[in-house]
Amino acid sequence: MKRLIIFLLVVLLLVTSGCAKKKTRYQAEFLGVFDTVTTIVGYSDNKEEFTARVGRIKDKLTEYHRLYDIYHSYKGVNNIKTINDNAGIAPVKVNKELISLLLFAKKQYYATDGKTNIALGSVLRIWHDYREKGISDPFSAELPPRKLLEQAARHTNIEDLIIDTKASTVYLSDPGMSLDVGAVAKGHATERTAQYLEGEGVSSFVLDVGGNVRAIGGKPGQNGIEPWNIGIKNPDKETKDTELCNVLISGYSVVSSGSYERYYTVNGIRYNHIIDPSTLMPATHFADVTIICHDSGLADALSTAVFIMPLEMGKKYVGGLNGVAAMWVMGNGEVVYSKGFKSFLKVDNEK
Ligand code: ADP
Ligand code: MG
Repeated sequence: MKRLIIFLLVVLLLVTSGCAKKKTRYQAEFLGVFDTVTTIVGYSDNKEEFTARVGRIKDKLTEYHRLYDIYHSYKGVNNIKTINDNAGIAPVKVNKELISLLLFAKKQYYATDGKTNIALGSVLRIWHDYREKGISDPFSAELPPRKLLEQAARHTNIEDLIIDTKASTVYLSDPGMSLDVGAVAKGHATERTAQYLEGEGVSSFVLDVGGNVRAIGGKPGQNGIEPWNIGIKNPDKETKDTELCNVLISGYSVVSSGSYERYYTVNGIRYNHIIDPSTLMPATHFADVTIICHDSGLADALSTAVFIMPLEMGKKYVGGLNGVAAMWVMGNGEVVYSKGFKSFLKVDNEK
């Protein structure tokens, strides 16, 4: 019996000393995917392990970036541009990751009552071109003609996006239609990459792809595992506070959609890049909307949709979703929280 107890004690000691093996915090940053900065923070056994992991993350994100690209072609890759170029011509054979994004995006169209519509490409392209021109030459900045927008809007029916999961093909049956996955692609890629890391056994990590944040677990702290501290950017660029508030999350995602980063100005009025499908004009209810939920793809799709909804509609909508919290920043800086959001706040910012 005594021997057994000693044996068990030794086993216990070995197990606990194994668990206590301290992991170190590492950080990496790189450019080149989704036209933004990717920041990675994680706890690893050693630097080599972390660096190799960062390399795999970069490879994964690069693959997603190429698949979801609407502007460029890549040798040997059928991507969103290939699908758009073949609208009304032929179904395009694509890989599973692209099918997965499109199925998800189509589902989100119905779930958001058409607010997030990836079939809005023809309309978004017009706004994109006018915005780019207006940014590069502010004196000649102008709004797209109403007629042009309305014409384009006739080619935005999500039912014309035909996904054949068995054949692994995608076909746009309207030749005038095109896809723009800007509202969902980054989040979906972030989520898939996080799931890949979870599959590798990673337990303490934060992936931030241009503000699309997804945490895996928490971080080792003095009192055991603690949540990550994530700063939310201040949409008011005139104040010196670059962060509006901080949220504490473990295994959650934080995604913001704002009107303060991508916009152009016509006659003193700012026009941002999130377009309300019902007016074909930029949504103007808020300076910023932040969503917290587990799935980063969902957070991205919802941040765009909720940005388009008026406040009361958005509150009702978010209130009806399980495990989703939101924060709205109004044009005058006033902040509104959904019920669940406050529990994530590091300090209660409500005045
Ligand atoms: P960000 O690109 O700043 O992260 P979002 O996730 O909100 O912000 O996505 C905005 C992008 O989504 C736009 O640049 C455009 O490509 C696309 N988009 C704009 N309005 C819509 C909409 N109503 N439905 C689907 N996509 C949209
Ligand atoms: Mg989005």
